[in-house]
Amino acid sequence: MGAEVLLCGWLLAPDERWIRGGALQVERGRVARVLASPRAVARARRAGARVRDLGEALVAPGFVDAHAHLELTFLTGALKPGLPFGAWVREVVARRAAVGRSVLERAVETGARELLRHGTTTVGDIDTTGASARALVRTPLRHVLFREVLDAYDPLRTHAALRSVSRALAPRARRVEGLSPHAPFTTSLALLAGLAPIARRRELAVSIHWSETEAEVDWLERGAGPLAPLLGPSPRRAGLELLRDAGLLGRRTSLVHGNHPRRGEPEALARAGATLIHCPGCHAWFGREPFPLARYRKAGVRIALGTDSSASNDTLDPRAELARFARLHPSVPTREVWRMATIDAAAALGLADLIGTLAPGRAADFVAFDTPRGAPSFDELVHARPAVRAVWIAGREVDLEPRT
Ligand SMILES: [Zn+2]
Repeated sequence: MGAEVLLCGWLLAPDERWIRGGALQVERGRVARVLASPRAVARARRAGARVRDLGEALVAPGFVDAHAHLELTFLTGALKPGLPFGAWVREVVARRAAVGRSVLERAVETGARELLRHGTTTVGDIDTTGASARALVRTPLRHVLFREVLDAYDPLRTHAALRSVSRALAPRARRVEGLSPHAPFTTSLALLAGLAPIARRRELAVSIHWSETEAEVDWLERGAGPLAPLLGPSPRRAGLELLRDAGLLGRRTSLVHGNHPRRGEPEALARAGATLIHCPGCHAWFGREPFPLARYRKAGVRIALGTDSSASNDTLDPRAELARFARLHPSVPTREVWRMATIDAAAALGLADLIGTLAPGRAADFVAFDTPRGAPSFDELVHARPAVRAVWIAGREVDLEPRT
């Protein structure tokens, strides 16, 4: 297929400028050129490119959802916001065990469709049951599939967990795969240390729930708190220390939540080049204390946003997450908030050289939004939740209302 040029009302260029009447030249699923003038468009047309006029649309890179559990979409609206975390976990585990494989696969597809409709073009999805691995390939959504692994500190489960994850991974390293040791309080140091060389050898992105609740931190560090009677002997080490000792703390690692960082931990994350993923909707759903954003920003930690899941969020709409986050953290420039859901989320998934901006050579993953009155701005994009008109992934327009 030859080149296609998409004429935009406004185009968000890779250098974060807004180009009135800009255009994207797309070839073989990638952005070949950003055309900034009518003369450049005319030249491309003379060279044989098909030109399509998107009218008054504002075109920007698609959103990247850095952390989701799409298989939990079957629990949309099922659980009461504000449920204590322990009760929530028990409820989710029981309900997931009670439904069949087809329900979970359908949930993944429904969740993926919802993300697409709201302008998300890539997701980092945690696959607990195998449903995502089977179902996501049936959707156009670009994804990194994080295989979840845990052993609940039971040595009998450690080897089985390692064997099953090795078997599940494709024979050759593929960019669509990643690993998710569930969390330091459910994944022993032996298992973490066994996973690190697999991740290193195959250059896999790694995503780990970390420091979500004070209870897990208390148990890990001191064997104390409400989890102590449920979990057995504690390693008496901080979760971040365990991850570092296992060799799992690096540039391809993202830590999810980080609601209770101890002194020095944000700095350790920054030194390692790891990403912190914050899920604003989930944070609000559980009624948590204010997220310690200032400490991570001061330390220079890269921050990305995720939706988490329909079992702990009222929406999978990245525009709602951006607006909520910006409202709660008004001192953060909206340009930075936008990056958290695009280029920084791409880095969290190990895809910074592929998605997140529309620079030449990157994937042609983009969204046409309703164009605002007057000149566009990051304030407008982040606060005004512009309507999604159309979505492209790898240069192909996605059917947003497919018949199933
Ligand atoms: Zn999660």
